[in-house]
Amino acid sequence: MTGFSFLDVGYTYRALQAEMDTAYRAVMDSGFYVGGAALDRFEADFAAWCGVRHCIALGNGLEALILPLRARGIGPGDEVIVPANTFIATWLAVAQTGARIVPVDADPATMNIDLDGVARAITARTKAIIPVHLYGAPVASAGLRDLAQAHGLFVLEDAAQAHGGMDGDRKVGALGHAAAFSFYPGKNLGAFGDGGALVTDDDTLADTVRMLGNYGARVKYHHDLPGGNSRLDPLQAAFLSVKLKHLDTWTARRRAIAAVYDQALAGLPDLRLPQVAAGTAPVWHLYVIRHPRRDALQSALAALGVPTALHYPVPNHHSGAFRADYGHLSLPVTEDICATCLSLPIGPHLSVADTEEIAARIGLALRAL
Ligand SMILES: *Cc1c(COP(=O)(O)O)cnc(C)c1O
Repeated sequence: MTGFSFLDVGYTYRALQAEMDTAYRAVMDSGFYVGGAALDRFEADFAAWCGVRHCIALGNGLEALILPLRARGIGPGDEVIVPANTFIATWLAVAQTGARIVPVDADPATMNIDLDGVARAITARTKAIIPVHLYGAPVASAGLRDLAQAHGLFVLEDAAQAHGGMDGDRKVGALGHAAAFSFYPGKNLGAFGDGGALVTDDDTLADTVRMLGNYGARVKYHHDLPGGNSRLDPLQAAFLSVKLKHLDTWTARRRAIAAVYDQALAGLPDLRLPQVAAGTAPVWHLYVIRHPRRDALQSALAALGVPTALHYPVPNHHSGAFRADYGHLSLPVTEDICATCLSLPIGPHLSVADTEEIAARIGLALRAL
């Protein structure tokens, strides 16, 4: 029986090898290995693609979350609202600033942050909200903007999984005051190494984040802020500019795969399919189903040549990093998602026919469970 890959990060290189190799040679010949024209071009390309004025390319997605919080002066004594159900980077970014993490449980339908929970969590110390478009599904953002406006809060999107998602006619990256992207190889827009970016329409924020990522300097050797080093290599920037031109095509494939799963898996016993917020268009970084006997289903699928993964197996508040401070919290929806979630193979390396075969094997596995 044919086996499938859960993810194939080499696919995009094989698909675009000639263009990638040309981009590589151009950067190597340019003599600029930090900064330079290839980096400037990618920043302009990505800002335009997101529909915002500024893109600051950074070392990775985690730093794209930390630096804007620092730039806004968020630190000890402040509170930042984050989803309980997210990759741990969202929490770590807040922890790095010294501000208090205020986790809000997930909406059981969308698995994204629950808006009523956000409203209840706001205090006089709240400075920012970080909505995460988890699994590539945009958070319904109008209610969040209203809350932020009413309480003077900074909205920083964690868009690491959601390049190109839409909420109504607004694109991810333009739903709050600023947005952090990751270009980790497995993300929908992935480099051949680490990378990240902060996008925003806020001139002051853009300027400060750029300085914080470049030794606190606007002009070389004039260090006006105690910054650090967080930069995207121009080689990665050149590869990302090539890939960006193909991203909408790859997203269309992800959507076609999700549509096959939606249809083929509907109505199977005890199986919960992902649901997205009304009016949003997800980009399906992951297709996450839920089943009460998740571990048994995962083993049965592995035996049928269908690899799966868990996003995520351990809730952040139960992780070794955060247990001491947050382990007492009850976040039942997130805890249930971690215990029942199962991510199915998805990505441009799979065809619709592959997906139909995978869906058929999932049906077999479930009926035999
Ligand atoms: C990947 C990811 C990040 C961090 O990105 P890196 O580039 O790995 O630092 C942050 N938040 C979420 C939701 C992610 O999936």
